[in-house]
Amino acid sequence: MTDIAPAPTGTAVKHEIYWRETESVTPGAPLREDLRCDVCIVGGGYTALWTAHFLKKADPRLEIVIVEEDYAGAGASGHNDGFVTPTIGHSLGALVHRFGAERAKLAYAAVGKSILELNRFCAKQGIDAEFESAGYYQVASNPDQIRLLERDLELAARLGAQSGLDLLDRARARDRIGSPAIEAAVKVGGALINPHRLARGLFRVVTALPGVSLYEQTRALAVEPVAGGHVVRTPQADVTATKVLYATNAYQHQFAEFRRKVVPVWSYAAVTRPLTDDELGAVHWPEREGFVEAGNFIVFGRLTAGNRLLFGGGRAHYRFRRDMDVPRNIDNPDASEALHAVLRRYFPMWQHVPFTHTYGGCVAITREVVPHVGALGDGRFYAHGFCGNGIALTHTTGKVLRDLILGRDTSYSDLLFVHGKEKPFPPEPLAFLGAGALSSVLAAQDRHPRLIRRQIV
Ligand SMILES: Cc1cc2nc3c(=O)[nH]c(=O)nc-3n(C[C@H](O)[C@H](O)[C@H](O)COP(=O)(O)OP(=O)(O)OC[C@H]3O[C@@H](n4cnc5c(N)ncnc54)[C@H](O)[C@@H]3O)c2cc1C
Repeated sequence: MTDIAPAPTGTAVKHEIYWRETESVTPGAPLREDLRCDVCIVGGGYTALWTAHFLKKADPRLEIVIVEEDYAGAGASGHNDGFVTPTIGHSLGALVHRFGAERAKLAYAAVGKSILELNRFCAKQGIDAEFESAGYYQVASNPDQIRLLERDLELAARLGAQSGLDLLDRARARDRIGSPAIEAAVKVGGALINPHRLARGLFRVVTALPGVSLYEQTRALAVEPVAGGHVVRTPQADVTATKVLYATNAYQHQFAEFRRKVVPVWSYAAVTRPLTDDELGAVHWPEREGFVEAGNFIVFGRLTAGNRLLFGGGRAHYRFRRDMDVPRNIDNPDASEALHAVLRRYFPMWQHVPFTHTYGGCVAITREVVPHVGALGDGRFYAHGFCGNGIALTHTTGKVLRDLILGRDTSYSDLLFVHGKEKPFPPEPLAFLGAGALSSVLAAQDRHPRLIRRQIV
């Protein structure tokens, strides 16, 4: 148990997703009559919405129906931590290790382009996603983590990154983010956003396109083959489509085809009340970049547009039998305590500032710890396993799925996460035991990186 300064009395902590308070949502009516369309998409997160967007741009005649169990953005798309990262899967190192430098470079370039396009898209469409393009730093708080930063810089140089990328020593790093915990830093770039507002803005833009309808409160119960395509069964009506896309990411295991291909893993976050102007003045943080500590189980922090502090990360939590039940799992006192320790370590001057929200959500992990996007070969397509790095990557994936669904052979349809081999997870209880063991080894490597040197994931 970490030693924690108790939150000031009288502070009620909500175990609810903070971002949802930044824009209210009234879910639309469910699907009540049978429909026919060219493409039916199951799930209403970024993957679904970007795919619909790029499909319509490529072929405006397409009729697209999206069915979403809750509301568009109710999944990870609406409650992630808002770091728009170029990362694919676990880390750059893991990607180069698995796929080689050349393929990793192509994939990073595609996702990097998505980051720029996302910013332009929001500006053009008037989506106030609170985009902060100063991005974030990868930081080190001890010599072992400095070595990890140096390793990543070497890799980035091999991949042809611009020379502007360099290791900031303690003084230069603290001149960017005035935390006494930071010993070194590397600017990653990327951006920070409000994820819920991005999801809701994207929902409005996509559903304004003629020929796209999105039914909220409409759960896909089954996808069955019929002549010329598939039928997506929902509680009150069916959608018959020539092509079907499964875009439910961490929920994808509910469909038999993906049962053992992707598992949900709980990741937690904590948000403070807004800092006062006096409190803000206590830390030199001129560009408000986020920071991500180097390691397997990263911890990270950022300011929201309303000057709250958000901390996230820490050890991953796989629940027996892929348990995604929100009331049972959204509050994790141990994770909240660990995040409070991060607040105190990075910003002791703000340790009195209480958390107002602590909550968790599920990231989707595959055996290879990279996403998988592909076709089942009978008019059905899938995308899952974004491993906690999906904001920019789902934008790129929208282009990949556009090309797969339209049968086009392009540079996108050949990226390293397309049509990759997927190893299944073992059945329970082995999956649960294996996840626990792997988590322990990764945590041990974070504590003793010189003892465990090999690339584990
Ligand atoms: C806590 C957390 C923090 C994260 N932080 C970051 C971050 O800082 N940066 C980053 O890049 N990425 C982050 N991610 C990852 C990122 O949010 C996801 O990769 C991305 O949102 C995935 O989008 P998606 O559309 O594929 O899935 P989702 O947004 O989860 O959408 C899937 C949708 O499917 C719906 N659904 C499920 N079953 C059915 C069904 N049977 N019928 C109809 N609909 C169904 C769900 O309700 C959900 O809305 C984070 C994720 C989590 C959980």
